[in-house]
Amino acid sequence: MGLNTVNPFDLTGRVAIVTGSNTGLGAGMAVALAAAGCDIVGVSRTDAGDTPARVEASGRRFADVRADLGSPAPAGDIVRAAVEAFGRIDVLVNNAGIIRRDNALDFTEADWDDVMDVNLKSLFFLSQAAARQFVKQQGGGKIINVASMLSFQGGIRVASYTASKSGVLGLTRLLANEWAAHGINVNAIAPGYMATANTAALRDDTRRNGEILGRIPAARWGTPDDLAGPVVFLASSASDYVHGHTLAVDGGWLAR
Ligand code: NAP
Repeated sequence: MGLNTVNPFDLTGRVAIVTGSNTGLGAGMAVALAAAGCDIVGVSRTDAGDTPARVEASGRRFADVRADLGSPAPAGDIVRAAVEAFGRIDVLVNNAGIIRRDNALDFTEADWDDVMDVNLKSLFFLSQAAARQFVKQQGGGKIINVASMLSFQGGIRVASYTASKSGVLGLTRLLANEWAAHGINVNAIAPGYMATANTAALRDDTRRNGEILGRIPAARWGTPDDLAGPVVFLASSASDYVHGHTLAVDGGWLAR
């Protein structure tokens, strides 16, 4: 993409697709990328939330794309819609994800398939659709996958989530290997314990909440804003030689 030596984090004029941009970490990353200069193609299932207003408040454009990533079928249409809206794409953030909790002895096939389909299968096929566009544009691109602490650890009662997020780490490496020669950087962010809808049940459980907080060196849950710097770094020319890395943003959780 060419290094801007004055501000290597400047994303002025870039176009970023962010899945699950209506809420939580996806909203935080969409707003951070807009603040750094990106126009945003926000992919939401039902409602875009207040993300369009927050993006437009920083002077950037927002294209509202509706898609259900429970299947990879919309992948091609999402990229086509982005190119139609803004003429090109530069960044894909694969953020949409779900979790199901149950004992491994009782875990159902539906809870396995639903999680794997959104967290891993659609992530792969949307990455493929974006990379085909990057190759066509001949200017490289940036893919940022959202991994998890359970890309590194086993977890408990979340069999399909652990399988999917461990898969995200491996796939991030594989895609980096295949696409680095095209100038495409594929990396991942592994958030620690972040205060979003995804973790509401954990935070509502006083005992689990206390156990988790007690183990985080930073002594607080993370927030969507904590991903702002990491996502801008991985979307920008500052990370042009970073390939296949999964960056933990976890208040020190993995260092314990
Ligand atoms: P969240 O608030 O539950 O947001 C999840 C997002 O994914 C929502 O925008 C949701 O859309 C979207 N999504 C889910 N299923 C979808 C589908 N079938 N089609 C399209 N969009 C779909 O959770 P979050 O914490 O921000 O999670 C964002 C990502 O971070 C996920 O990949 C999650 O696994 C990961 N993560 C979170 C934490 C944490 O502590 N919070 C830690 C590590 C990793 P709807 O609003 O329509 O459901």
